[in-house]
Amino acid sequence: MCAATAGQRGRRVALLDHNGQPGRKILISGGGRCNFTNLHCGSGNFLSENPHFAKSALALYLPRHFIELVGRYGIAWHEKTLGQLFCDESARAIVEMLLAECVRAKEMQGGEMQGGVEMVLNARGIQVEAASGSGFCVASSAGEFRAESLVVATGGLSVPTLGATGLAYGLARQFGLRVIEPRPALVPLVLGGEEAAWTELAGVAAEVEAQAGGVSFREKMLVTHRGVSGPAVLQASSYWRPGEELVVDFAPQLDAGATRSGGLLGALREPGARRDLGALKQALRAVLPQRLANYLAEAAGPQGWSNTALDACERRLRHWALHPLGTEGFQKAEVTAGGVDTDGLKARTLETKIVPGLFFVGEAVDVTGQLGGFNFQWAWASGVAAGRAV
Ligand SMILES: Cc1cc2nc3c(=O)[nH]c(=O)nc-3n(C[C@H](O)[C@H](O)[C@H](O)COP(=O)(O)OP(=O)(O)OC[C@H]3O[C@@H](n4cnc5c(N)ncnc54)[C@H](O)[C@@H]3O)c2cc1C
Repeated sequence: MCAATAGQRGRRVALLDHNGQPGRKILISGGGRCNFTNLHCGSGNFLSENPHFAKSALALYLPRHFIELVGRYGIAWHEKTLGQLFCDESARAIVEMLLAECVRAKEMQGGEMQGGVEMVLNARGIQVEAASGSGFCVASSAGEFRAESLVVATGGLSVPTLGATGLAYGLARQFGLRVIEPRPALVPLVLGGEEAAWTELAGVAAEVEAQAGGVSFREKMLVTHRGVSGPAVLQASSYWRPGEELVVDFAPQLDAGATRSGGLLGALREPGARRDLGALKQALRAVLPQRLANYLAEAAGPQGWSNTALDACERRLRHWALHPLGTEGFQKAEVTAGGVDTDGLKARTLETKIVPGLFFVGEAVDVTGQLGGFNFQWAWASGVAAGRAV
């Protein structure tokens, strides 16, 4: 996005990537259909030490601008849920569109102009130095490049097998910027100790409300062979910190203050109703998959069957504290939280405040989207912001 935007303004751009293929993350994103934006994108959908920073760039390039671009290329899309837009066919169409926008930059300049984008793949071992005078000198296995401006768009540490590296953080530190410790986000959580028993339920999914760091998400939770995942947990994982609890409400469809009779265990409270483990399992099976209902009933089974004991059991089922040992790490994280400190960047252009001509955009920056197309919208918007300024 940045290269195409700059190229279409008449700038001469070299786009270096150490992979042999551009946009590998786009290709596998959204299960191969790329959740390329979200209709409800706002700064509240992002984590950052400075929650206001992303606003400027996001306001300059809106989801509808990307939707228009996608429309011009005839790429069919649909809204899956919660404003999340996916390609009807393959994510490849998005990569091809971006490449075509880079080619178009050249065509828009006509014969005599110099603008356009040169794609340089397999550019390994990148090293950057400030050029004498001004600008930058970039050495790589694909040659040496000199430029007035340098935009670092090399992403975060998530999924190294797709080519993720910490180059952006190294360059930020080299040029005197602070880096907020990168950590895996949108990532499954690992359970151990007594909670390892949960993994016996691997494959079971249920709608829950998962809460971490004071933020909660009502979506599906999936039990895995190592712990818990699914959208609710992935979302909460971005706010979870080691040592903290993940709190799960197994009946989010009921009001927090549901009355006793209308509560999760209401059936056991009816006059003459059975009050035993079988009745508890049955009540939970009304709202949860059978294996999960049975497991919770046995794990949460009250000491006795008095109203007070049922109250305590119900409270536990609505605030079930899990104690994750950790995350599944950058190998499995959809995104990297933390990154180049926004304090060192100008919000409208993403240029660093201390090194003129040096920009950081996308996931490399300490702006991390929630699940649902927000990370791409940030990548597009921040790329365009820098592309208009270089
Ligand atoms: C499995 C998966 C699915 C996802 N699905 C979605 C989704 O549906 N919707 C959504 O919004 N977000 C999704 N994301 C997140 C999204 O892909 C990223 O946030 C987004 O791609 C970030 O864009 P970026 O340009 O900043 O970095 P990237 O897309 O990571 O691009 C960085 C580029 O820099 C190159 N590079 C890295 N290091 C070096 C180096 N040392 N030298 C040279 N080149 C280098 C890489 O090869 C890469 O091409 C998904 C992520 C994953 C892992």
